[in-house]
This record gives sequence, C-alpha cells and structure tokens, in this order.
Amino acid sequence: KLSENGLAKRAITFGNGNNNINNNQKPKISVQDQKRQLPIFANKNKLIELIKRHDTLIILGEAGSGKTTQIPQYINSAGLQGNGQIAITQPRRVAAISVAMRVAQEYGNGMGIGDYVGYTVRFEDCTTKKTRIKFVTDGMLLREAMNNRLLIDYTVIMLDEAHERTLHTDVLFGIVKEAQRVREQRKLTPLKIIITSATMNVDHFSKYFNNCKVVYIEGRTFPVDIHFAKKPQDDYQTSCVATFFQIHKEAPPDHDVLIFLTGQEEIETCAHQIRLLAKDPETEGPPVRVCTLYAAQPGLQQMAVFNPAPVGVRKVIISTNIAETSVTISGIKYVIDSGMVKVRTFHPSTGLELLKVQRISREQADQRTGRAGRQSQGFCYRLYTKSQFELMNKSTVPEVQKANLNTVALQLLALKLHMLNFDFMDAPPKESVEAAFRQLKLLGAIEECVSTELTALGKKIAKFPLDPRFSKILIMAEKFSCVKEAIIVVSLLSSESILLNPPSRREQAQLARQKFRSGHGDHVTLLNIYKAFEGVGKNNIRLWCHEHFIHMKNIMYVSEVKEQLQEICRKCDIPNSTCASQIDQLRKCLLSGLFMNVAELYRDRQYITLDKRQVTLIHPSSVVHGQQPRFILFTEVVQTTKCYLRDLTTIEGDWMAEIAADYAKKHSFKSSNGNT
Ligand code: ADP
Ligand code: MG
Repeated sequence: KLSENGLAKRAITFGNGNNNINNNQKPKISVQDQKRQLPIFANKNKLIELIKRHDTLIILGEAGSGKTTQIPQYINSAGLQGNGQIAITQPRRVAAISVAMRVAQEYGNGMGIGDYVGYTVRFEDCTTKKTRIKFVTDGMLLREAMNNRLLIDYTVIMLDEAHERTLHTDVLFGIVKEAQRVREQRKLTPLKIIITSATMNVDHFSKYFNNCKVVYIEGRTFPVDIHFAKKPQDDYQTSCVATFFQIHKEAPPDHDVLIFLTGQEEIETCAHQIRLLAKDPETEGPPVRVCTLYAAQPGLQQMAVFNPAPVGVRKVIISTNIAETSVTISGIKYVIDSGMVKVRTFHPSTGLELLKVQRISREQADQRTGRAGRQSQGFCYRLYTKSQFELMNKSTVPEVQKANLNTVALQLLALKLHMLNFDFMDAPPKESVEAAFRQLKLLGAIEECVSTELTALGKKIAKFPLDPRFSKILIMAEKFSCVKEAIIVVSLLSSESILLNPPSRREQAQLARQKFRSGHGDHVTLLNIYKAFEGVGKNNIRLWCHEHFIHMKNIMYVSEVKEQLQEICRKCDIPNSTCASQIDQLRKCLLSGLFMNVAELYRDRQYITLDKRQVTLIHPSSVVHGQQPRFILFTEVVQTTKCYLRDLTTIEGDWMAEIAADYAKKHSFKSSNGNT
C-alpha cells in the first residue's frame, strides 16, 4: 500500500541541494584506539590535574567528545575517588545503561557489567559491592539522597548532560552543593562535583556553583550541509520515510542515516515502513538494517545500534532525542530531523499533565545537525522550513519551569526541605509549587500546604519510586484487599504500553484481544491481559504475544516492575491480598489515589473534568470509547488536536463521597450547567 502511494519515490524539495558525497571507508579499529581518538583524550592529563585541584568543575564539550565514557575512567586511573564510588548521572535510563555497558566493555578484563562498572535505574539495580563506577539516572540518585542526604558513599559525583536541565538534575544541583558544604563543615570525606554539558552557555551554572572553574574540551567537527524543507510538512512522519528513500537511492551504503522522531509508536511505524519499502523490488538502493532507539528498550537491544552494519548494507537508526546528545553512534553521515519532540508538561492552572508533541528548540536542532558531522562532512535534512526554524525557541525551557512537581516536592519534604525555600538554579513557577502542595495535601501526605513535615501516610508514599498518586493506590490496596491487582495495574501504568496496534492491522489487533476486554475500562482490561500472560508457559510467551498483539518486551518489563513493587510492599509491611473477581474493590482502590482525575459525561461524548472543569474526549484507543459511561477516572490527558483522556476506569457516582469525602464536597458532580 505504501509503495502504491509512491512514498519511496515521493520527492520532498529541500533548499541548498548539493549532494556530492565522497565515499569514506569505515576503518575497523580497536577499542583502545577508539579511546585515543576521542577529542577528550588530548586533554586527559590536563583534566585529571584540574579535577584534582578543584572541588567543583564544569566541563564543556560537544556531544561525542568522550565526556561520559572517559572522564570516570580518568578519575579512576588517577585514583581521585579514593575509597569511595564515582556516580555519573544521566537523565535517561537508556543512556545510563548503554554508557555503563560501554565503559564495562572498555575495561575488558572479563569484567562484566555490574562488577567494577554498574548502573542503577528505576526498577533495575545492576551494581555490586565491588562497583566503583556507577551510572545512575538522576531520578535514582535523588531517591538515594532521600535516605542519605550527604551521599556519603560517593567521593565524586558527575552530573552529566546538565544542559538538558531535567527536573531531577536541577534538584540534584542543590542537593550535591549542600552535601559538599556540609561534608566539608563536618570534616567528612570531601565530595567532588563535576558538571558536564554539551552546550556552551553555562555562565549561569558557574555562578550557581560559587563561580567555579569552567573548562572547554576542544571538539573536532566537520561541516554539515543543512537543508531546510522548502514547504511546511504537515505529516512529518511520512516525510521522514520519504526523505530517507531520497537519500537512500543516491548515497553509498556505508553512509548511515539517523532519523529523529518523538516516541516508540512513531519510531516503530517508521521502522516498519522503511523495512517494507526497502525490500520492495522497485526501490532503488542497497539493503537496509533498521535500528531503533527509545526509552523502553532492554539493554542488549540498545547495544545493537552501535554495531556497524555488514559491508554493503546501510544502517538507519530511528531515535527519540536520546541520540541528540546523550548517546553517540558512529558512522552517521545523514541526519533527518522531524523537528519534533515529545514533552511532558504540566499546567498548574488546569492541573493537567499533558504528553505533548511539540517543536524542538533551535539549540536542539543544532545538536541534531551536529550528529552528522562527527567523523566527516555530513548532511542534515530538516523537515521544517527556514522560517519555521526561526520561530522556534532559542533554547530548551528547563523542566522545572514546566513539569509536575508533586513527586519532587514530596521527596524534598522527606528531607525536611520545603520546595519554596530550596536553592534552585532557576526557581519553579509559584503556581506549580502550590499545585504540588495542594495535591500532596489532597492525598493526605501533608496536613497543611505550608508544612515541612510529612504525615505517616506521606512517609509511606515517599518510599515508592512512583508518582504519589500511584503510591497511594498501593498503600490503600491493603484496605481494599486488592494488593495483587493494584501492583499489576500500577506496574502497567509505570511502563510503556503493552498493546501493539500496527496501523494496518488495528482491527485485527482489537479482535485478538477482545476476550480480555472489560466493560470497567482499560485498567481492568490490561489487568486481564496481564493475568492471562502469567498463565502462559515460558516457551509459549512469544507465540502468545504475537497472537494477541502484545508487545513482548514491554510486558516482560512490566513483570520486572511488578516484582520490584512487590518487594517494596513487603518492606513497607503491606501484606499480599487479592480481590479475585470482586473487581469493584480494585476500581475503588484506583479511585482512592486518582480521585482528582475524574470526569463526568457532559454532553454528546464530551467529558468534563471535575477538578478544573476542562472539556475532554475519551481517547479512541480506550476500550470504553464509543460507550458513554457517566463517570470515569483517567490516568492521563493527551493533547493532540483535541484533549483526550487515556487509560480509564468507569466508576459509580456515589463512590466519590465514600472514598474522597472532603474532595467530593468541593467538587460535586453537577454537569448540567457546569456551575461549581
Ligand atoms: P559525550 O559524553 O562527550 O557525548 P561519550 O563518552 O558518550 O561522549 O561517547 C564517546 C564515544 O564513545 C563516542 O564516539 C561513541 O560513539 C562511543 N560509544 C559510546 N557507547 C558506545 C557503544 N556502546 N559502542 C560503541 N561505541 C560507543
Ligand atoms: Mg555524554
């Protein structure tokens, strides 16, 4: 069908089209030689000297210069970490895992990952007592700080990818700064702080860290020819595929292509289309190896993107913004930039958290472009026009300015710190802080919005590495005797979707999963699927997943998350229980954590949210789409052209008063004219 559309032959016109490509052979070199060829290598001794001399140091260097993989090894070879551990934070789990694996590989000596070099990401700890170099997501290091605010096990902490300004990294800036100060004051083992960034505007950082020293690593980059689309593209996904084939028919096979899209679903669709079209006898060009890179991939599969394709085969990598700066893949000659990124944003005025696909910043566009010029001259195809580019934000807005602060506010409270008084590099908006405290109060984690003290319930909630609303569900599950079911549902909600919905076989997929479908909504449907999955014999899992259009890797991940949550529940003395077929127990339990996410049928398919009275629709992917239950509870709001509610459970009207009495009083169901 795709080839009928002529997608492989469709021409998108770009400006500045001068495609003379020289055939550069990819040389095969040893790991040791690869290390020596990195731009950072020339600075090795200088860097070691500077790290020795300064307690806090900011290191700048372009993506791919070797900061993440080499600096920890330099520190280690010079013994600068003494008897402590080196922690290196990464904003994303994929990056933490893949760089840890790389560094373990560079050490060689039969040392596997988890020995000398390890990683810790949410729901997965791959470290041992022997581990000295530990890659960790910023979220996990923050969690560790909750139990050990001086982070005393670490003598060196490297906050990597600081330019991304994720919420967790921003909070860690304040935590490590304070830990360093207190450790010095109390004459404890000193803490060295290293901040690394791939962008150059760091005056701000230096000022925050008491005007600490900044060093630049001289990069080596080659010019990249930038081609803007001549006309705006209304379907950037299709344009990515079309652009790929435009390149594919002309470029030599060893010129690899990197495509930036926004998420798993888009990436898998694009991968599927390219695989299909590349095999089409009418398509010109060499064979293609398609690799994908996104958050929810298991470690080993991620590592496959680093393997060079066989001679005569073109490698194309389709990635989220992971490949923008945090992961570098060799051999990229072409970049295709959709210009889009998926961001989670929180709107304090509406109380809604949205997963939104939006335009990248110009800084991000330039980082993406740079990925084509690491080893030789490259090409970048931007699927947006020059004037669209000029309208983009200059730099990325720090996450603290736009994120939901609930979890972090709670974590800071666990450290007896109130977010309003925290030493932020850039303070969060007051409305977001207020919204966070309001929600914590609603959940019963604090008594008053001004308090710096968690309630007993709040302390329990803080123990789970989850959104406080999900933690509350697990804690309340004891009362509703549905701990087993609640753990499964929360695990499913903490992972990527287990449902596969290939666009061309959507109906078939729905039919295959029909037997799991529950009139109570998506959470119960997912629970049914998961329970069926648990009953499948180990050898039949692949087939079962295939038959039911279930994403095997994702559901395997869910089962790991489930084990971890069971473990935490055990530690928190929440005894296991099951509600068996009394599914109302589970529905009520979900409501006890998510009562602020309730919507009521308003008129003709429109739902109005109780809290902020927003008009929304049921997402077409929901099992209750097409029906019109009066009350629903939702997990997520997705904004595309309209505002959709996703992952729903139907609830009964009188449950609100039973489960969240105070809240129900203030937000009564009176949809008739929305007068509340
Ligand atoms: P930076 O942190 O400065 O962006 P990195 O230390 O991440 O740079 O990367 C240095 C080099 O290591 C890059 O050339 C990259 O291609 C290479 N590299 C990283 N991980 C792997 C891997 N798993 N396999 C092969 N090469 C890798
Ligand atoms: Mg890096």
